[in-house]
Amino acid sequence: MEYITRKSMLYKTGVEYGDYTMNHALGCSHGCKYPCYAFLMKKRFGQVKTYDEWIEPKIVSNTLELLDREIPRLKDKIKSVHLCFSTDPFMYGVDEICDLSLKAIRKFNDAGIKCTVLTKGVLPIELADLSKANEYGITLVSLSEDFRARYEPHAAPYADRIQALKRLHERGCKTWVSMEPYPTPNLIEQKLSDVLDAVSFVDKIIFGRFNYSKEVSAFTAHKAFYNACAAEVVNFCKARNINCHIKAGTQT
Ligand code: SF4
Repeated sequence: MEYITRKSMLYKTGVEYGDYTMNHALGCSHGCKYPCYAFLMKKRFGQVKTYDEWIEPKIVSNTLELLDREIPRLKDKIKSVHLCFSTDPFMYGVDEICDLSLKAIRKFNDAGIKCTVLTKGVLPIELADLSKANEYGITLVSLSEDFRARYEPHAAPYADRIQALKRLHERGCKTWVSMEPYPTPNLIEQKLSDVLDAVSFVDKIIFGRFNYSKEVSAFTAHKAFYNACAAEVVNFCKARNINCHIKAGTQT
């Protein structure tokens, strides 16, 4: 594992969900091939040169020191902290990053700040002992391990992600699922209802389309497809009292 240092850690996001955020690693071992927007940005701005470099994450070694400095200064402004937008806080099999994420979340909670977490890894059960205001999420766009191996080659198997999320739900934690980027049928034939049923216990579902790419545009009925999917997600959530958010640009 390589290490880097940074001058600051917390920053305000401008996205649909998330207030403040932190990214305590550069790179992500999951190596998603959607492609990963974070990877493309880091490459564009010269922080990472190649995919192989991206999947060898570097830990920000002074993360906790930075938080000790920044949390007291910002805590009255922060509503919540999202982990993470440009890396994954619970990278599958990367214990050092998972441990650091747990320590960071503990620090926020000790200061009365709630965290939202999103991962394609396995959420550790230790999270159940932290603030019940926290919200723990996984990304789930399929149940097919073939699809996962193709698009999220080094992320956790879907069944393991779901099981870890369910364990936290059973311990009284708030849980959510990000179904984004949901693939079109030319990428995989699957029933959205199967994916929804697998996580029917969660408190919130966020649904979003696949990035604008040649692959999706090749499926000419993609607009009708995403409209139908969005309606299905909304109805599924309504029937089960699950909060629902359809990402901008998914419905037309
Ligand atoms: S898990 Fe997220 S940050 Fe990591 S490679 Fe995949 S999309 Fe990128």
